[in-house]
Amino acid sequence: MHIIAKCPRCGFRWWLDAAAVDRRMRCRKCFMLLKVPDLTEVPHAAEVINQAHSDLYVDDTGRTYG
Ligand SMILES: [Zn+2]
Repeated sequence: MHIIAKCPRCGFRWWLDAAAVDRRMRCRKCFMLLKVPDLTEVPHAAEVINQAHSDLYVDDTGRTYG
């Protein structure tokens, strides 16, 4: 499974390790603080990922984009 964080401020995207979920981190470009949701708390997104093996985008509010 791949997780891609997308910064809502500058739009920069980068790969996340699975260990990064449910933690706060900073955008690698503009250093905006982001909250990475725990995938167990976003069952729909996790379901989409499991079914489609696609990428997941998250923003600072924890919303996901499959
Ligand atoms: Zn940024």
